[in-house]
Amino acid sequence: MRLTSQFDTVKITLYCDRLYIHPFCAVKYGMIVAKFGGTAVTPRNLIYLKRIVTEHHLAVVVSAVGREYKDDVKATDLLLQYHESRDQQVWESIADKYRRLAEVNGIAVDVDAMLSDAKSRAALYGKDYCASLGEELSARIVAAFLDADYVEAERVVRFANGDLDVERTFSNVRAAFCDGKRHVMGGFYGGCDGGRRTFSRGGGDVTGAIVAAALDASLYENWTDVNGVCVADPASVHNVSTVPSMSYAEMRMLSLAGAEVLHPDAVTPCETRGIPIKIGNFFRPQSASTLISFCPSVDKLLSVAEKISDSCVETTALHSYPMWQVLQRVSDFARSYTRELNISDRRYTVEPQINIEFRDKVVRVRSSESVLVPLYRALI
Ligand code: ASP
Repeated sequence: MRLTSQFDTVKITLYCDRLYIHPFCAVKYGMIVAKFGGTAVTPRNLIYLKRIVTEHHLAVVVSAVGREYKDDVKATDLLLQYHESRDQQVWESIADKYRRLAEVNGIAVDVDAMLSDAKSRAALYGKDYCASLGEELSARIVAAFLDADYVEAERVVRFANGDLDVERTFSNVRAAFCDGKRHVMGGFYGGCDGGRRTFSRGGGDVTGAIVAAALDASLYENWTDVNGVCVADPASVHNVSTVPSMSYAEMRMLSLAGAEVLHPDAVTPCETRGIPIKIGNFFRPQSASTLISFCPSVDKLLSVAEKISDSCVETTALHSYPMWQVLQRVSDFARSYTRELNISDRRYTVEPQINIEFRDKVVRVRSSESVLVPLYRALI
C-alpha cells in the first residue's frame, strides 16, 4: 500500500497511563498525592487549590507562601533574612503573609498563636529550622482550610547523617497517611537529631515525590502556575506550547539543566515505582499539562515523523513512502519503550498505547501488537 498524495498525514500519539497499565493498582490504591507550589499558597490563590482537591487527594503537600506579585519576596527568603538579621520588620512581613492567608480565605485558626510559637522556636534553632517554618505554617493553615489532618513533617520525613533516611521515612509516611482521611504536610523539610533539615531550594517537590512513592500512589500531581513543561520559558514567551508527555529520564535531564518546573530529585522516587507525575497549572487545571512516565517525549518521534503539532505528532509521508514502513518504524519505537517492572514482587509490563489517525479513521493499538494488522483492517 502506498499513500496516494503528498498531503496525506498519519497522526500518531503515544499514551502511557498507569491507570491503563496497572488497573489492579489503580483500583486498589486509587490515591493521588498533590503538591502545591508557593504561588498557590497565597491569599488570593488558595481557593484554586481547594477546587483541585477531590476525594482521591488524600495527601496534600504544600510550600511556604510564595510571591503575590512580581517583585514580592517569598516567605522562605524572608525567613532566611530573619535568621541572619533578627530584624522585627522582616518578621512582621512574614507574619502579615500568614495572617492574610487565613483572613482572606475565612480560615478559623489562631494565626497569632502559631506565629508566636514559631518565632520562639526560630530563636532556639539554626538556619534550616527557621527556613522550614514557612512550610509548617502553610500546612497548618491549609489543613484547617481543607478540613484535613495536619501531619508534622519533622516527625515523618527523617534525615540521618545528613541524608534522607529512606526506610524510616517511608514507614513513617505509611503510618501517618494510611487511615483513609485527607492529610496536609509541609514540604521541603524533615527532622534530624537536634532539629530540622531542609532539602535544597524547591525541595517541596521532593517531599511530594517521597510521599507518592511511599504510598504507591496512582499519580503524583505537581501543581504550579505554568502549563506544565513548556517548550520555552512561559515568563518570557507568550502563548508558549506545552510538551504533553516525556519520560522520567528526559525530565531529570531538563531539571538538571536548569528547568525550574520540577526539582531533579523529585523524579527518581516516582520512576522506581512507575508512578506518573503530572505537572499542571492550578489556575487552569483542565488546560495543557505534562505527564511524566516511561513514555518518551513526542519529540523523539520526530525521528520517525516530520512535523509536531500541539498535542500529537503528525508524520507527513511522502507519496512514494510505503505506509507499512512508517508504521513499522513507529511500532519499533514504541516497543523499545515497553518495560518489565517489578513492584512489590509483582511483575508489570509498562507499555505505551499508540493512537493512529489516518484519513478520519482512528486505530488504537498496544505497542506489543503489530500495528499493521489493525490499521490495514480499518483502512482497507
Ligand atoms: N519554600 C521552599 C523554597 O522557596 C521550598 C519549595 O517551595 O519547594 O525553595
